[in-house]
Amino acid sequence: MSVETLSPRYPAMRKPDVVVIGAGFGGLSAALRLAELGADVETLRYPGGCASTFTRSGYQFEAGATLFSGLGDGQLFSNWNDTWDLGVRFDPLDPLVELRTGRWSLAVSSDRNSFLERFSALPGADPEAVRGFFGTQRRVADALWTLFEDPSLLPPLSGTSVVRHLGRSLSYVPIVRWMGRPLSDVVSKHGLAGWEPLRVYLDAVSQITVQTSSAEAEAPFAMAALDYFFRGTGHVHGGIGSLAWAMAGAIEKAGGKVLLANRVRGIRREAGRWHVDTRKGELEAQIVVANVLPHSLAGMTEPQMNGELHDVEASVESGRGAAMLYLVVDSDAVRGPEARHLQLVDDETAPFVEGNHVFCSISAADEHERAPNGQRTVTVSTHIPMKKLRQMKPEDQGAYVAATQSRMRRTIGRRAPELLEHMTFEMTASPRTFARFTGRHLGYVGGVPRRVGWNHYRPRALWPREAMRDLYLVGDSVLLGQSTLAVALGGVRTAESIASRNTFCAKAIGS
Ligand SMILES: Cc1cc2nc3c(=O)[nH]c(=O)nc-3n(C[C@H](O)[C@H](O)[C@H](O)COP(=O)(O)OP(=O)(O)OC[C@H]3O[C@@H](n4cnc5c(N)ncnc54)[C@H](O)[C@@H]3O)c2cc1C
Repeated sequence: MSVETLSPRYPAMRKPDVVVIGAGFGGLSAALRLAELGADVETLRYPGGCASTFTRSGYQFEAGATLFSGLGDGQLFSNWNDTWDLGVRFDPLDPLVELRTGRWSLAVSSDRNSFLERFSALPGADPEAVRGFFGTQRRVADALWTLFEDPSLLPPLSGTSVVRHLGRSLSYVPIVRWMGRPLSDVVSKHGLAGWEPLRVYLDAVSQITVQTSSAEAEAPFAMAALDYFFRGTGHVHGGIGSLAWAMAGAIEKAGGKVLLANRVRGIRREAGRWHVDTRKGELEAQIVVANVLPHSLAGMTEPQMNGELHDVEASVESGRGAAMLYLVVDSDAVRGPEARHLQLVDDETAPFVEGNHVFCSISAADEHERAPNGQRTVTVSTHIPMKKLRQMKPEDQGAYVAATQSRMRRTIGRRAPELLEHMTFEMTASPRTFARFTGRHLGYVGGVPRRVGWNHYRPRALWPREAMRDLYLVGDSVLLGQSTLAVALGGVRTAESIASRNTFCAKAIGS
């Protein structure tokens, strides 16, 4: 591991081209791409953020994110693994996730045809209508994933990109048809509105991807998110943090510098350059990329931040926090040696939040650095509506989070009792924990819920976000939104946009 943890004060002010604040996957990806393009970058704090692996009581737990995407051939992380020799092992999983409700369960395969076969065997299924629904979903997903995975197809567009869009215009028709409509409309169109297994599946997947229910989710984004399981998704061996550390190492190899455990206190602009005040000294740079929520950025800068970012703040505030359980179980509790993901629903008719719906991720049997032989670590999460939490008196908030964690245990007890029966260790976390350890403003996680609305398509929402001159925002509150792959692609896109406008990179691109 070649990541430098900065302990001595800077001997003199360092002057890189770009300073990246925050080493979540948004910041790491922006920093690595900028370093690849020839910029001299710095990244601050420990790597991974909401997608990191931490150690407690001798065990290693995934902090938040557990299912990783972008690992397929030709996809972003797979390419970086090869290019920078990251040495990270990606394990494909089948099933990727097992969804368990009171009446049925579904082993979600990464192979679309097997998935369709299993889905069509659920109670009360009309196989033809199921194929029709997932056919529509696939057409929309194909068109949107092409846009997401090729940064040059999103604004600002070059002449070549415009020509490519024109050539692909027919593939956009299915997207346009469903814009501004909820996912549940697509279900109705295929005559499946009353079929509960589909509604439950869509609510479960929408909740963990676009952060809302199928009745509220903006259809094209939700349909793209439904493809997540079929596009290079799997398990990062050793924990997601091993990829974050490897990327930090690659940034150094590419000429960047990673300065961990070094909180940024403020940034100010003087004589056309940014001065970044960190706990361990000051940095000066032409450009700053901030991998934080807009609220945190506003707290670091003077008040001239781009007014549009206040809309982003409001959208984030309509979103979620997370309540967590970190468990250790005996291996007897788990079928098979592979890492496993269980999505558990207690009451299918109640909202999929506050412990009624939990996502459990179990480490693989051979990840001995995470738990000794014979034991497995488990990360369990559920969503907390932050508006509700914030409306409570401070003294009531703790009791509400504790009640949510009890409900999580109840759901596990009903749908995966084997985990509680073989549990040997438990630790809890709340939005306050995320605020403390990952710097997320008040513990908001998951970015902006993709609720139905045209606001997602405003050109500004699709451009890299310049909060002030030469100050860019990356991460899950802005383009391309939530999930580790989305924030990484957003970071790459922002890096390329910066490179296209600045001379330091032109020299590297040309060489
Ligand atoms: C419980 C949970 C489960 C999830 N599950 C999945 C999943 O299975 N798959 C998936 O793809 N996604 C999942 N996600 C979403 C995914 O984790 C996030 O979308 C993604 O990790 C966000 O990355 P980011 O770079 O935007 O922000 P963050 O991960 O929050 O990174 C921001 C970084 O900035 C640092 N920072 C903050 N303030 C400062 C400062 N002042 N100075 C220096 N550094 C600072 C933080 O320490 C952090 O490292 C999950 C999220 C949660 C919370």
